[in-house]
Amino acid sequence: MRRYSAFAIAKEAFRDHTGWARAWGNPEPKRKYDVIIIGAGGHGLATAYYLGKNHGVRNVAILEKGWLGGGNTGRNTTIIRSNYLQDPSAAIYEKARALYEDLSQDLNYNVMFSPRGVMMLAQTEHEIRGYKRTAHANALQGVATEYIGPERVKQLCPIIEVRGPRYPVLGALWQPRGGTARHDAVAWGYARKCSEMGMDVIQKCEVTGIRQVDGKVQGVTTTRGEIDCDKLGIVVAGHSGHVADMAGFRLPVESVALQALVSEPIKPCMDVVVMANTVHGYMSQSDKGEMVIGGGADGFNNFTQRGSFHHIEETVRALIETFPMISRLKMLRQWGGIVDMTGDRSPIISKTPLENCFINCGWGTGGFKAIPGSGWATAELIAKGEPGPLAAEFGLDRFREGRFIDESVAAGVAH
Ligand SMILES: Cc1cc2nc3c(=O)[nH]c(=O)nc-3n(C[C@H](O)[C@H](O)[C@H](O)COP(=O)(O)OP(=O)(O)OC[C@H]3O[C@@H](n4cnc5c(N)ncnc54)[C@H](O)[C@@H]3O)c2cc1C
Repeated sequence: MRRYSAFAIAKEAFRDHTGWARAWGNPEPKRKYDVIIIGAGGHGLATAYYLGKNHGVRNVAILEKGWLGGGNTGRNTTIIRSNYLQDPSAAIYEKARALYEDLSQDLNYNVMFSPRGVMMLAQTEHEIRGYKRTAHANALQGVATEYIGPERVKQLCPIIEVRGPRYPVLGALWQPRGGTARHDAVAWGYARKCSEMGMDVIQKCEVTGIRQVDGKVQGVTTTRGEIDCDKLGIVVAGHSGHVADMAGFRLPVESVALQALVSEPIKPCMDVVVMANTVHGYMSQSDKGEMVIGGGADGFNNFTQRGSFHHIEETVRALIETFPMISRLKMLRQWGGIVDMTGDRSPIISKTPLENCFINCGWGTGGFKAIPGSGWATAELIAKGEPGPLAAEFGLDRFREGRFIDESVAAGVAH
């Protein structure tokens, strides 16, 4: 496939951009693949990409019931950080953050990674203690974060009211190399590379059944016929429970809608990402100028990929104390995505009771940031049949053994 470069763009400009090839194909499914990945979100596509790049496995199909990136990957608020408390989490999220640093070069696709800095506000004494503890843990894990005081918060983000009447800002956990990336571009960049390696990215192809013989995966039944495979990866986020059911096992995962909204575009006023867990909201400014605002997940299980009015009100009401200027903003759009929550708020990257069937899920409200690291780890698991160091602690067996990786603070509201 032709490389994207300044020279290529200049050349195409002289011929009305008629020389570009399609970024990925529109293939018919083959009868059989070495590996099938169900779900063309960021995690599924990244898994396929690192299977090809790191392990030379290229006879791969990625099956998507809708359009690629149309699940949570294209619906999230794009926060990237790795300031988690527990060692296994810090390791995989930091691997992902580090891969994001030069993902655009690696994929030859501009994913617009913007390491503008992420701060998590401490607005109670309890949060001060929690974030100082996380900063110490991060120092030991080699993750660059620091605990900062309210003056520095105000300096980094002047639109914050640090002396709020109910919850003044007492400090923050600051990760200077956290930030954002363009969500669709991450999916598109991986899809283009997968296609370039000869893999089939097949959209509008829903998996409706998983076929097995003697406890071993044989293939899948889809809306476009039966397809065989030697190995199967289930990477379907909020639909993990459904698809696991097709394979004959149950997951310790709940599915709920998580919502977000954006305002009308305004002049640049905020060049960091701010999360306020006590008041339950977070905000950043997109390159277009919209304020990107997210809140908490629905308090009940559901599969409704839509936003609701009461959520706008609750989220904006909560944030106004910390960001009084948003009281004058008009809100433009809202939406929802179905996230897959585990009890310890940590992901699952695991073998399953069905031989040669692997699962990646449970990223809940915060899996966008993990996409490159998760794909790296899941590809290793599928290629070798055993988890490598990044995935070792995230197996399904931890729920049976009570070996939880408790990230409920790091992943509560914050993404
Ligand atoms: C509103 C919102 C805000 C968020 N904000 C952040 C954030 O700021 N930072 C962050 O790190 N994370 C955030 N997240 C979480 C993040 O979006 C997800 O964890 C991540 O995108 C999950 O990626 P995925 O590839 O696993 O899933 P998805 O992108 O959902 O991909 C799964 C795909 O599987 C497909 N599929 C399902 N069933 C089938 C089937 N039977 N056959 C074929 N295909 C199937 C779906 O159509 C879907 O495209 C947010 C999520 C939401 C909803």
